Amino acid sequence: MRCRRLQALLVTNPENRYYLSGFTALDPSLSESAGALLIPGSGAPYLLTDFRYQLQAEAEAKGFEVVLYPRGLVSLLQKLVGRLGLKRVAFEGDGVTHVTAERIIESLKGPGVEVRPVTGLVEGLRVCKGSEELVKIRRAVRMNEEVFQEVYAQLKPGISEKEVAWTIEAGMRVRGAEGPSFATIVASGPNSALPHALPTDHRLRAGEPVVIDMGVRLDGYCSDMTRTVVLGRPDRRTVELFRLVRRAQLAGINAIRPGVTARSVDRAARSVIGKAGHGRRFGHGLGHGVGLAVHESPGLNRWSRKKLKPGMVVTVEPGIYLPGWGGIRLENMVVVSETGCEVLNRDTTYLDI
Ligand code: ZN
Ligand code: ZN
Repeated sequence: MRCRRLQALLVTNPENRYYLSGFTALDPSLSESAGALLIPGSGAPYLLTDFRYQLQAEAEAKGFEVVLYPRGLVSLLQKLVGRLGLKRVAFEGDGVTHVTAERIIESLKGPGVEVRPVTGLVEGLRVCKGSEELVKIRRAVRMNEEVFQEVYAQLKPGISEKEVAWTIEAGMRVRGAEGPSFATIVASGPNSALPHALPTDHRLRAGEPVVIDMGVRLDGYCSDMTRTVVLGRPDRRTVELFRLVRRAQLAGINAIRPGVTARSVDRAARSVIGKAGHGRRFGHGLGHGVGLAVHESPGLNRWSRKKLKPGMVVTVEPGIYLPGWGGIRLENMVVVSETGCEVLNRDTTYLDI
């Protein structure tokens, strides 16, 4: 904040709000917030919320003064900023709707008062994980694998994608997760050619690839893992594509170490698939950061010049998608170490194909 000459920052992004305050509430929707933090450059920080969250906010946000807004965030903000005499206030440009942003700017601006959006300030602090965070992420990874193994053992032809997805999400809840970290993907046969397919009533069939992409949110932290399985004997094409994706994943993992750019890691994996002639069928980035959010910085893609640092947690998830036939994707999470990286997943279901 000092570098950007800010006297106060309004934090509305729910993961940033939790990261700074410990307040675990989730926003019901983008236009309905559970509250915001006002962090002044000096003095005690505030948690602004409404009656529904008061007790939770007071119990969880240690060191924060909880102030309620009976008439909405913007009118309280106006009062507080006036009372504190703040002249340079920023809000999270990617954490509010356009309408809210306009209201904030409109109500705060005045003689000598500057209000502007910023991005990435708190995210920059979140990108390298501390040891307590890594403990939580490891637990989320482990639970994800337990649920996967339990469900994998029950898979048989005739079960629908929706039924499998429900069994997975129920398994997460039973084990104490807050829930899935994103909508579980179970995509079989031709559906698996859609990287972000929604589960359908399509029933699993022997010989077809089944892409299962799942993650839990546990203690606030996310996991994210993809396995592609085949019931019965896979045909030759499936085995070949599978081995190719796995080789690309290992090439990506082997390229991860502190100081390298995110795009060089993407390139290491992508070139394996490209050399085999399937480059155009791998149309998404190699991976993404994972933490309080399931998709966060740094993205591993063709464009990112970000340098990897120890403590960053990223996924490595190459895939090949053939329209009309299906897809293969494998996804593991790794943490960047001082000398290279450590794969957080222990599940080796991909080896039995
Ligand atoms: Zn995933
Ligand atoms: Zn992912």
